[in-house]
Amino acid sequence: MTPFLSARKIVKRFPGALANDNVDFDVRPGEIHALLGENGAGKSTLMQVLYGLYSRDSGEIELEGKPLELSSPADAIRAGIGMIHQEFMLVRRFTVAENIVLGLRDGRFALTAASARISRISEQFGLQVDPGQIVEQLPVGVQQRVEILKLLYRKARLLILDEPTAVLTPQETTALFAVLRNLAAQGHAVVIVTHKLGEIMDISDRVTIMRDGRVVASVPTAQQSEANLARLMVGREVALSVSKTPARSGRVVVEIDGLTVMDNRGHPAVDTLSLELRTGEIVGLAGVDGNGQSELAQALMNLRPVHAGHVRLNGADITHASPADHIVARMAYVPADRRHVGTVGALSVGLNAILGHHRDYAQATGLMDRARIRDFCTGLMRRFDVRPADPSYAAGKLSGGNLQKVQLGRAISSDPLALIVEQPTRGLDVGAIEAVWAELLAQRDAGKAVLLISAELQEILNLSDRIAVIFEGRILGIVENKESDVEQIGQMMAGVIPGRNRDRRAAPLKADVHATA
Ligand code: ADP
Ligand code: MG
Repeated sequence: MTPFLSARKIVKRFPGALANDNVDFDVRPGEIHALLGENGAGKSTLMQVLYGLYSRDSGEIELEGKPLELSSPADAIRAGIGMIHQEFMLVRRFTVAENIVLGLRDGRFALTAASARISRISEQFGLQVDPGQIVEQLPVGVQQRVEILKLLYRKARLLILDEPTAVLTPQETTALFAVLRNLAAQGHAVVIVTHKLGEIMDISDRVTIMRDGRVVASVPTAQQSEANLARLMVGREVALSVSKTPARSGRVVVEIDGLTVMDNRGHPAVDTLSLELRTGEIVGLAGVDGNGQSELAQALMNLRPVHAGHVRLNGADITHASPADHIVARMAYVPADRRHVGTVGALSVGLNAILGHHRDYAQATGLMDRARIRDFCTGLMRRFDVRPADPSYAAGKLSGGNLQKVQLGRAISSDPLALIVEQPTRGLDVGAIEAVWAELLAQRDAGKAVLLISAELQEILNLSDRIAVIFEGRILGIVENKESDVEQIGQMMAGVIPGRNRDRRAAPLKADVHATA
């Protein structure tokens, strides 16, 4: 079969990175094609070349066997190629129909006709989108389907989705996949970029694996296993499961009591939230990104003011103690934003590794003990595989993944009572993820209280002893991991309280909560 789109020997160079190195890629009508690869493998670059956002340095693109020149996304759309980014491009106060016709020349004058056509397309592909609704009142999963509709309205025949499930609950992911299957069944081509192996096995017909800017394989999915895909992606064997002994949890170390925290716009991001952390356990905080997780973590360290409520560590009220005093009290935090929180980019990695603990390295002369700092940092870099392994390197020049390893190493080395980690493996490659998971379990087995805040449900399920689900700043339920079922957790992530009417949300939707992150 002639591919719908075919790319040959695509080369795209950025200053300091060969993002696409002679890449061949093609996608056929009626297929769901997964593009897999670790962070930085070159997936988004390739898709943006095919969408006309980036110009290529060399290589050819063909559309149904004929050469295609793309100098902008407008060219791509004209050719029937559409792309959905992680950040949705919708105008939140407009209706679905207004968003869909936005930018079309004749659009605004024919909203009624447009609405009828939108409803027809929605029906045809099972999108379940109502053209009259205001976008900001729609859950993220529906907003994403509006983006799909927008492309279909423009007669896209190839839809490219870059990491579409990162912002979805498990149920929303299932709904998205049903739509993608409908699209493929009706002859559309779909490319889904993802690093989640389970999703690839579930949804794709073929999978192309990229590593270091190159395609290492392009194969029918049915012939693959998750382990095999992981090996192709990383270039070596990887263990995909974690072995974990039963928790021996003890007394309460951290008491979060009726905590309310405001977001940057002054709305409550955390709303009278209570949670206890015990010694020797990992409590997983599950939730879709943007439901108050970051504000909670920051407030626990007093990096963001607490509006009401208390945080106690070993019985002592530390709610309003300074962040430095939190460290002294042995509460450690590894933030999601490693670059801007807990890192001083202009300082060396060595000094960053002791940030907050620098008094321990002061000598009687008042000068820092450089040799000890260097030794400590060298050990940390070896244990956590930080690259480049040079303590004098400027921290700001490290990649996000390596900064994360420095911060985690610093937190663990400080022998904390409680460890708050936020998105600890975001952006890490599979090998590094294994190492971080093992370190977190070791902390728990050493009797620490660990709060694992993660938008990756699989990570929560792999590591946690108890799972709390956060939605719009509140804990909707806490379950033991052994009895938890994903269905129930997914419902709570969408705001449905177990045992209540399925369709009822926990709270009226707030306009500011569904920011399309
Ligand atoms: P992926 O989507 O697989 O994570 P990307 O295509 O985003 O990978 O990145 C591939 C490589 O190109 C990485 O080394 C990245 O740092 C680099 N890169 C991507 N976009 C840019 C850019 N706009 N400027 C400079 N380098 C970039
Ligand atoms: Mg990408």
